[in-house]
Amino acid sequence: MLDFQADDIGNALGIQEISSLPAGRANRFSMKTLLIDADDTLWENNIYFEQVRKEFLNWMEALGYPVPAVSELFDSIEKANIVRHGYGGENFISSLKETYLKSRSVSRVERLAAAAGILNPQLDPANTHKARALPPAEGLDRIEEMAQTVRAHPIELLDGVQESLKAISRKCRTILFTKGSFKEQDRKIQASGLSRYFNAIEIVREKDVAAFEEVIQRHHLAKPITWMVGNSPKSDVNPAVAAGLRAFYIPHAQTWEREREDLCAWEQVTILDRFSDLLRYL
Ligand SMILES: [Mg+2]
Repeated sequence: MLDFQADDIGNALGIQEISSLPAGRANRFSMKTLLIDADDTLWENNIYFEQVRKEFLNWMEALGYPVPAVSELFDSIEKANIVRHGYGGENFISSLKETYLKSRSVSRVERLAAAAGILNPQLDPANTHKARALPPAEGLDRIEEMAQTVRAHPIELLDGVQESLKAISRKCRTILFTKGSFKEQDRKIQASGLSRYFNAIEIVREKDVAAFEEVIQRHHLAKPITWMVGNSPKSDVNPAVAAGLRAFYIPHAQTWEREREDLCAWEQVTILDRFSDLLRYL
């Protein structure tokens, strides 16, 4: 937990709520609170997934599988696996492997190609033969090699995050609120060196309205002085607003397509160009 100084607390207080509190009574319940997303808000994340996905599709294409059909098959497998196993790199990697193994059934790829309106999936006999000539174990090993980019990439903080977060943590109560695999998120948090700037860390399976309400209750958050900060309309902004909070939306050009959604309740949302812009509002 961070040790807040009295002056810092005084600067950050919700004036109406605590102006009657005697000195020294200002406490964490009356401070502004920021729930802060991690992936693609504090550090790069989706670029590594996109890089591996592209590498996988190129590799599959070289084996004779048409990119649109494989891409569609992967999307459907990944979507189903997220429901079963949750978000994260390991789910992504096992979805690549499942896509590869299922693609070896040529009829499946042909059906998908037809469904996608691809008249000539270019599954000529030579390519089909090439794909089937590769032993599955070797194909899976190749996917494991690609997967290292997702598993072990360095943490690249977004511009201005470290300095801004340091300043913010002296003004506000801060809670890191991220979703995904505990193990994967914990690795990234530790590697980021940012955990010192948070009063609490919450890693959940899904950031939906119920998850926000649970965090609000568990940390006794006062809704009028609590904001969510994040890059995802679907997981950060919209559920936070639905739970009665306001939000700072910081779009990231490489946001995962599954996180895209129209913003609801624009009047509750402040859009920022970059993380450091938060300081102007605190
Ligand atoms: Mg995010």
